[in-house]
Amino acid sequence: MTVLADDPTAAAILAAASCYPVPPVGRSPAIDAVRASRTSQCLAVGRDGVMLIVRRPWLELDIPVTPPFPAYLPYGSVGERRAELRCGLMPRELLGRILDHFRAALPNEAAAFVLWNENERSFSIHYPQIDDATPSRVTYRSPILAPDQHLICDIHSHAHGAAFFSATDDADDAHSTKIALVLGRLGQPEGPAIASRLCAGGMFLPLPRSPFSGDDDAA
Ligand SMILES: [Zn+2]
Repeated sequence: MTVLADDPTAAAILAAASCYPVPPVGRSPAIDAVRASRTSQCLAVGRDGVMLIVRRPWLELDIPVTPPFPAYLPYGSVGERRAELRCGLMPRELLGRILDHFRAALPNEAAAFVLWNENERSFSIHYPQIDDATPSRVTYRSPILAPDQHLICDIHSHAHGAAFFSATDDADDAHSTKIALVLGRLGQPEGPAIASRLCAGGMFLPLPRSPFSGDDDAA
């Protein structure tokens, strides 16, 4: 087998973030193994660009990270982009309970996590310890998870303010794989407003649809 790095640390890093060319037939045992895995990721290099493939117990994400190459490569296609929740959609009732919690915290911001238990395939809400909360700021920590628990969704309120991801939110979310939601305009007749994104691979991706069940609108 070809050695990609002499240094053991460099070799370990490359092994944890592998890069595979797509054969002309479009199927590869190595790429199939990543796609079928519980937790891993790789880059697939095809004639039509590079696809980041991320697998978590709760997530299947195939996302192009480059445009198609102008150079000819004798490779197959990386295939279609996709983002699927292996855990299924979050129960809409959880969003209602979190909104009630956030409204009760007004005029301050507040926070909540949605956790998923992989063994029981059940969702739950975790309200974090709040270090500091004002009408324009909330600081809180991610929960310590049991081995069968996964942090699916990180939700914070912008209280009466608009729903958007601030520069602080971008910095907080940069290294996570999770759904992030901001709920704003709470306690107002036209509210609430929701901003959403999938954080993965250092990118912030739009959600193709609401992550909550029983809601056909993009949230
Ligand atoms: Zn924010």
